[in-house]
Amino acid sequence: MKTIVVQGAVTGELLELKRYFPDGIQTEVNGYAFYETELNGYKVVVSKTGVGILNAAISTMTAIEAYHPDCVINQGTAGGHTRDMQYGDIVIGASSVYLNNMRMPLKGPGEGSNALAWRPGRSNTIEIGADERLIEAAKAVLHDGRVIVGKLGAGDIFSREADRIDWLHEQMGHLCEDMESVAVYKACAACNVPVLGVRIISNNELIGPRDDDEMYRLAQIKLQKFIRKLLGILCGEE
Ligand code: SAH
Repeated sequence: MKTIVVQGAVTGELLELKRYFPDGIQTEVNGYAFYETELNGYKVVVSKTGVGILNAAISTMTAIEAYHPDCVINQGTAGGHTRDMQYGDIVIGASSVYLNNMRMPLKGPGEGSNALAWRPGRSNTIEIGADERLIEAAKAVLHDGRVIVGKLGAGDIFSREADRIDWLHEQMGHLCEDMESVAVYKACAACNVPVLGVRIISNNELIGPRDDDEMYRLAQIKLQKFIRKLLGILCGEE
């Protein structure tokens, strides 16, 4: 049987998906939660990664070892990192770049810190592409709203300083910031598993709306509708 792993970092990113597939089995491997269900002859594993790069990497490796998936879909919210990225926009992650790889100019005691002078590190630069077939499938989803194909950015950081966001975007070229996608892309690349990240803009600290729980919730619901349709396409559902 073919298997698809679909991930979210927090409960709200998985609630609707579980509602679409009410008869699943909840289980746990290595302390990470998985919900096993089926769609049109495919096994669908809804996976809660937890928040952040470490959780995403470990949880993805765990999912790959436990389920041998034919592909992994990472989905969730993200903050827009250009003034053009609006609340509710969906980004199909053609690639994802690691935002935490930084090298800073030397400063001595008492010279303080200036994050705007940091540069991407010379080693360990990570930008990984998604699977072309999955990108095409996501582009085929019928959706009432803006869908953009572009570069995701991820790191253990929640950027809220306008100058720093502009600076990060200039250095990295990503459209939005999340905390998991690049780790999932990296784990999947290491194991030759096709991967795609899909993110919805839940906040944009440059133009608003800013970090707000209710705005997250509504965005999460909208994205899960999109993901349900994507699963239908991937599983050959009419
Ligand atoms: N308040 C939210 C959690 C936000 S914390 C809730 O409880 O649902 C960060 C999580 O949201 C991470 O999983 C990350 O992938 C995503 N996220 C959304 N906007 C982000 C931003 N601007 N920067 C970093 N991560 C963001």
